[in-house]
Amino acid sequence: FSSVELTRTFLDRIAKLDPQLNSYISISEDLALKQAKAADELLANGQGSSLTGIPVAHKDLFCTQGTLTTCGSKMLHNFVPPYESTVTQRIKEAGAVMLGKTNMDEFAMGSSNENSFYGAVKNPWNLDTVPGGSSGGSAAVVAAGLAVAATGTDTGGSIRQPASFCGITGLKPTYGRVSRFGMIAFASSLDQGGPMAKSAEDCAHLLQTMAGFDEKDSTSSETETEDYLTNLNTPLTGLKIGLPKEYFGDGLDSQVAETIMTAVKEFEKLGATVKEISLPNLQLSIPSYYVIAPSEASSNLSRFDGVRFGHRCEDPKDLLDMYMRTRAEGFGGEVQKRIMVGTYALSEGYYDAYYLKAQKIRRLIKNDFVAALSEVDVIMGPVAPTTAFAIGSKTDDPVAMYLEDIYTLSVNLAGIPAMSIPAGFVGDMPVGLQIMGNYFAEAKLLNVAHQFQ
Ligand code: GLN
Repeated sequence: FSSVELTRTFLDRIAKLDPQLNSYISISEDLALKQAKAADELLANGQGSSLTGIPVAHKDLFCTQGTLTTCGSKMLHNFVPPYESTVTQRIKEAGAVMLGKTNMDEFAMGSSNENSFYGAVKNPWNLDTVPGGSSGGSAAVVAAGLAVAATGTDTGGSIRQPASFCGITGLKPTYGRVSRFGMIAFASSLDQGGPMAKSAEDCAHLLQTMAGFDEKDSTSSETETEDYLTNLNTPLTGLKIGLPKEYFGDGLDSQVAETIMTAVKEFEKLGATVKEISLPNLQLSIPSYYVIAPSEASSNLSRFDGVRFGHRCEDPKDLLDMYMRTRAEGFGGEVQKRIMVGTYALSEGYYDAYYLKAQKIRRLIKNDFVAALSEVDVIMGPVAPTTAFAIGSKTDDPVAMYLEDIYTLSVNLAGIPAMSIPAGFVGDMPVGLQIMGNYFAEAKLLNVAHQFQ
């Protein structure tokens, strides 16, 4: 069948199912069919890549030239970017078809997708539960078959946790592996784009296109990319797996723990050896992250002032009134809270006590991973303490919501790559296994994941 037929099938499924899931913010039907037609022509001439003609979706945080890009916020309800992000540009050049832009927590702040101005996303496995966040729309579209694959971003778990909750595969690459150019910034030292798909193999195809140096991103790495596809079938004989004891302590649901341990035993059958390791500063990742991320966000989000683009309040009295009302109207509650926390943590007199201390903890966390990964090839553990929780069950309790991130944040603080892969079920709900690796070990992670799948 042709890409036009395939794209049509996906668009029809979206029209039928998305009103219940709310996983897309915008659907680019005309553009998708035009791209599909162009892909069919390329393929007919024997040209194109493995992505040519494949319908994908992008998190609505990647700027797409000429297509609405909201970042889940009222602040950008009318923002049509004049330029394209490097990630979406590369995927477009590879011939993929863009079906639309996926729902997300506002400015990627959240773990449940309930912070979107465009409404909560439902988990396709159980419509009363959350899909995870902030890339919840991307996870839901892949799980529900409303796109073959999707892009996501992960600042503190936003690819891995929704992948876990929706039973799909997601990869957060090493910081600097994938260009941040054209990604609307949340916390610049932590943000990283990555693939979300049904399998490690599909993620490898996407990463192959997304990864690599980009002169438009000053933190982009010049380290050569690997071929992410050729080693997928390497046997795991002799693979050393570390299980951090801190990842299996209080707070982890016992059935989730059981599912993870069953998966780890499968790896032993595939020839891996397992040993207990320690990441002693795990508990400090939440306080450290929730100072550093809001601090960077408070600075990044100062550009939304109503002057150049995005929302502007009506009839401002003067400039200050415009700034204040624009930001009060344009930002939702969670975003405002984080701007206040970040501004406070960076202010004179408090900087040393909060921001500087958080950065020192960050170094300790990084050192823990470097030490552990000198002894083992990969680290495994849960992605989240529970399976997907009920919509509304944590919205009044920010601390409970932030605790959801305990197993994912430290990976971003250290800058290492990590994946979530489907490990099994608790009841009807999927559980993800987290696989963490050394800097630039994406090919190894994909190999390990592929052998399990
Ligand atoms: N849940 C975390 C937060 O709310 C992580 C979000 C993310 O990775 N974008 O900040």
